[in-house]
Amino acid sequence: MFFSGAQELRKIAEIARALAQGREPQTFLTSKEPYHSLLSDIQTLASRLEERSQTAIEERNRILAILESMTEGVLVVDVEQKILLINSALSHAFGFEKSAATGHFFWEMFRDSDINEMIQEALTKRQAARREHEATLSGSVFEIQVSPVSTGTDFLGMVAVFRDITSLKQFDRLRSEFVANVSHELKTPLTSILGFVETLKEGGLEDPENRMKFLNIIEEQSLKLSAMIEDLLLLSRLESSKEPLRLGSVKVSALLKKTGELFSPRLKENHLSFSSEAAEGLSVMAETSSLERALTNLLDNAVKYNQKDGRVLVRASRDSDGTHISVTDTGIGIAPQDLGRIFERFYRSDKSRSRETGGSGLGLSIAKHIIERHGGRIEVESTLGEGSTFTIILPK
Ligand code: ADP
Repeated sequence: MFFSGAQELRKIAEIARALAQGREPQTFLTSKEPYHSLLSDIQTLASRLEERSQTAIEERNRILAILESMTEGVLVVDVEQKILLINSALSHAFGFEKSAATGHFFWEMFRDSDINEMIQEALTKRQAARREHEATLSGSVFEIQVSPVSTGTDFLGMVAVFRDITSLKQFDRLRSEFVANVSHELKTPLTSILGFVETLKEGGLEDPENRMKFLNIIEEQSLKLSAMIEDLLLLSRLESSKEPLRLGSVKVSALLKKTGELFSPRLKENHLSFSSEAAEGLSVMAETSSLERALTNLLDNAVKYNQKDGRVLVRASRDSDGTHISVTDTGIGIAPQDLGRIFERFYRSDKSRSRETGGSGLGLSIAKHIIERHGGRIEVESTLGEGSTFTIILPK
């Protein structure tokens, strides 16, 4: 009896070992053998444990998948200063694979003294902190939030969340640049107006020769101010408007004729010759007034930045890309380093000529917005000293 019990216990031990190692047991007990109920308890326990560890694995995978899908970078460092967890968003932002980072000291991976100092402080002082930081390598700006991690009694390390705020910062910079530019542009004519009003008040009114001259300058500067404000309002409408365009079929040859006639006095005044060519029966789907405005702005520049006895040529054609309307001048041209910037608000490659001719620095920006709202684009080619061609391309 004792012998048979010992044999069964050995069998049970072997079955328990197999279960612990995740193997299929090679031996079994029949229901008639003693200790059978003990074995069935062990088996139930084993399958419960298996279920629990499965649930724990699933939970861990779920948390890892959530962290991995975050656009923010996540980093967990333990008390030994080793990286416990890092998601791909963060490792890629700093140019390494997350598999290469896990288990390494954080300072081996982040070669950035500011970031390392922040992590170190969170580990030693066990305090939460937030900081904006520009990464030395990529130039990206991050908002970093570090927090200590503890279970209440045990301190486990720290977690850091990196939010990329580069575009937000850029937007902020552009906005303040814009405000500074607008203020400057509005101040210039205003200063001139106030100066001449002051001169008139201080006796200029009694000087019949200069009185009219001063009033004319005041009028000219006021018109300039008003035109600039109109342009700014139009730009802001173009940028924020969700209203659909009032599209209609626009006959291109009629459009070129009309704008040519509109410019006729200024072309004559500046001794410029003008010609326009449009393919027979060409028409585009566009908002007439907006397209007219975009073309007018290009023509205005072709006149303003032309040379004495120069030419202006407007051409329209269609190819597989869509309808092309180009404005060519034989003017001063644009330097290659300015070409990428002339569509920015207030950017002027030739500041004195632009101011002299009453340019607001907004014309190209307005034209670009209008054409982009039509789903098209404007291209430019230019040679310094020879001239420029601006081409509006409207998709089919
Ligand atoms: P502006 O009111 O100053 O003309 P735009 O936005 O129309 O403003 O143009 C921006 C700048 O691009 C101009 O100041 C000028 O330096 C340059 N530019 C635009 N069109 C031409 C052109 N046809 N020839 C030479 N330079 C041009």
